[in-house]
Amino acid sequence: MSHLTSYIMGKWVQGEGEGRKIYHALTNETLYTVTTEGLPLADSLEYGRKVGGETLSALTFQQRGQMLKSLAKYLLEHKAHLYAISAQTGATKADSWVDIEGGIATLFSYSGLANRELPDDTIWPEDEMIPLSKQGQFIGRHILTSRRGVALHINAFNFPCWGMLEKLAPTWLAGMPAIIKPATASAQVTQAMVKLMVESGLVPEGAIQLVCGGVGNMFDYLDFEDVVTFTGSAATGQKLKSHPTIIAKSVPFTMEADSLNCAVLGNDVHPEQPEFALFIKEVVREMTAKAGQKCTAIRRVIVPKNQLENVKQALLKRLSSTTMGDPAVEGVRMGALINLEQRQDVQDKVDYLRQNGCEVLCGGQFNQLDIMGGDPKNGAFYPPTLLYCAEPFKHHAVHETEAFGPVATLMCYDNDDIQQAVQLAILGGGSLAGTLVTADPQVAQSVIRMSARAHGRMLILNEASALESTGHGSPLPLLVHGGPGRAGGGEELGGLRAVKHYMQRTAIQGSPSMLTSITKQWVRGADTVTDVVHPFRKHFEDLVIGDTLLTARRTVTEADITHFACLSGDHFYVHVDKIGAAQSLFGERIAHGYFVVSAAAGLFVDAGVGPVIANYGMENLRFIEPVKIGDTIQVRLTCKKKIKKRKNLLKIHQMAWLNGMCKSLIRTTLWWRYTVF
Ligand code: NAP
Repeated sequence: MSHLTSYIMGKWVQGEGEGRKIYHALTNETLYTVTTEGLPLADSLEYGRKVGGETLSALTFQQRGQMLKSLAKYLLEHKAHLYAISAQTGATKADSWVDIEGGIATLFSYSGLANRELPDDTIWPEDEMIPLSKQGQFIGRHILTSRRGVALHINAFNFPCWGMLEKLAPTWLAGMPAIIKPATASAQVTQAMVKLMVESGLVPEGAIQLVCGGVGNMFDYLDFEDVVTFTGSAATGQKLKSHPTIIAKSVPFTMEADSLNCAVLGNDVHPEQPEFALFIKEVVREMTAKAGQKCTAIRRVIVPKNQLENVKQALLKRLSSTTMGDPAVEGVRMGALINLEQRQDVQDKVDYLRQNGCEVLCGGQFNQLDIMGGDPKNGAFYPPTLLYCAEPFKHHAVHETEAFGPVATLMCYDNDDIQQAVQLAILGGGSLAGTLVTADPQVAQSVIRMSARAHGRMLILNEASALESTGHGSPLPLLVHGGPGRAGGGEELGGLRAVKHYMQRTAIQGSPSMLTSITKQWVRGADTVTDVVHPFRKHFEDLVIGDTLLTARRTVTEADITHFACLSGDHFYVHVDKIGAAQSLFGERIAHGYFVVSAAAGLFVDAGVGPVIANYGMENLRFIEPVKIGDTIQVRLTCKKKIKKRKNLLKIHQMAWLNGMCKSLIRTTLWWRYTVF
C-alpha cells in the first residue's frame, strides 16, 4: 500500500496523515491511501492562473490544437501502462478501451476542430459583423477571449481518463489551465495518465495540476474568471453549486449529474422485426457495459403493453448469459463495480425500488453469485438486475432513483397511446440520453418532437442506422453531452460549443477599421490597402489584411450568355429564350449566375507564373441581383483573413477573400478561399 501523490505547483506531493483508501475492485485489497491534508491547495489556484494561464493564453488556437494532437499521440504510445492500472477498477478490456482510447480520441477530435475551424490567433471573432448604423461606420461584433482564471474539474469515478480528457480538450483549446480533482475511488488511473502528460513535456508548466483527495477550502478562493465543471451525483453537485463563492463571484458552474435515461420501444415494433432484436441488444449492452456504471446507461425500459412479455423473456434470456467475473479470465463480459461501498449503494437503491412499486425479475442480490474467476465475497460484483414496475405513473421512485450499476426497470404504456411513452420518458425529470427504437418515421416524428425537450441527446435506432450506430451510451465529441433538469442542466462536448464555455464573450462596438485591427479580420467599411503588386503574386507572409484589388470592367453581351449556355448545357429559358424571359419576373434575358462568377475569375486572376494558388471553393455564394445584357461588372477582391494551417507536415496557408462584385445594380459578396503552397 502506498500513498497516492498529487501534482501541485509543478511538484508531486503527498498530503499528511492516512486519509481515505482506494481498494482493488476485484479483491478489496487496499491499494493506496489518499489525502490532501496540508497541501497548498489555495495557492495552486493562483499558480494555475499565473503560470499556466499566462503560457496557454499566449498560444494561438492552432498551437493549442497542435499540443492536443501531440499529447494524444504520446498517450496512445504509452496506453498499455494505463490498461494495467484500469484493471484494478474492475473494468473489462472493452470498458477500459472506452475510457482510455475514447478519451484520447476526444483530444484528437478537438485538435482537428482547432485546425479546421479556429484562427491562428489568441482571440476568436465569433460571428459576422453586425451593422449598427446607416453610414456603416458604427458596427458591432462578438469576440471570445481566454478567461485568465483556472478551470477546476471535479470528476466522477466511472471514467477516470475519458472524464478528465473530455473536459481538458476544450479547456486547453480555450487557453485555460486546469486543476483536476478525480473521484477518490479511481484516482490512481487518472494519476497515471497525468503522470504521462507531465513526463511527455508537451503540456506547459502550470497548465495541469492534480488534486488526489479532498479539495479542502479551494472553493473559498475561487475568483470570477475561474470555471468549475462537476460530474457526479446530483446531491454533491447541488451542494457545490450553491457554495457562497460560486454565487457571490458568478463563477460558471457546469454540472453533469445522475440521469434516469430511457429506451422506448415504438408501438410499431414486433418480435419478428430486426428492430426488436436491436432494442434487446441495446438495453442489455447498456446494462452490462462498465457494469452499468455509466451516466448515460439505460435505467428505464419503456415498451408497449402487448410486447411486455416478449421483451421480458428476451431480456431475461440475454442477461442470463452475461458472464460476470474477473475480466482477466477468458470469456468474462462484465466486471465488478468500483468497490464494496458502491456495491452496497447499488443494493440499497435496488431495495428502495423494490419497496416502491418494483419487483425483481432477475438479479437484485449480490450474495448468491455465479462468477468466473473472481472472489464473490471480496470482489465488488453485482448481478445484472432487471426490475418491473407495473404502475409507473403511480410510483415515482422508478423515475427518480438511480442504482449506479447493472440495473434497469421495465415498464409499459398502452399500445395505441404513444403519448404515454413520451410522458414516462419525461417523468425522468431531464436526462442525458434517450433511445427510441422504431421502424416507423411517424412514430419517430411524434416521440422525438414531444420528448426532445427533456433530453440532451436522442438516438433513433432502426435497421438502417444500427449498422453504424455508436450506441445509446456513447457521448461523442461533436455532439452535446449533458441534459436538462436532473441531469444537471450542463452542456459538455458538442464540438466548439464546449470551448466557448471556458471563454468570455464580449460584444465590441466601433468603426469597421477599429474592429478589423482588433480582430485581424477585415469587415466591410474598413480601410483597404491597394498595392501595385497583384495579390496573387504575393506570398502568404506578404499579404496584409485589407489588401485590395479593383479590377478592370467587363460589359456582359448577348454572345457571352449564348456561349456560356452552349458550354455549360444550361439553356434555362431566362438565359436563352427572349420571349419567355420577357414574361418572367426579370422582364428580359439575364446572364447565368455561374457565368458572372467565371467572368469574375477572368477579371481578378493574374495568369502569369507565380505562387501556386488553389481555389477550393466558395462559401456564402449568392446571386442576389440579375446581370442583364449590357450591364458592366467589376470585381473588388479584398483579403479578409489569413488562416495558417498544418496538414501532412506541409505548411498550408489559407486565405479568405471578400469579393465585392460591383455593377450599377449588383453587389454580390463572395467568400473565396485559396491555398498557397
Ligand atoms: P459523487 O460522490 O457525487 O462524487 C463526484 C465528485 O465530487 C468526486 O470527485 C468526489 O470526490 C467529489 N466530491 C464529493 N464531495 C465533495 C465536496 N464536498 N467538495 C468537493 N468535491 C466533492 O459521485 P461519484 O460516486 O464519483 O459518481 C457517481 C455518480 O456520478 C452517479 O450518480 C452518476 O450518475 C454520476 N455521473 C454523471 C455523469 C454525467 O456526465 N452526467 C458522468 C459520470 C457519473 P471524492 O470521490 O473524493 O469524494
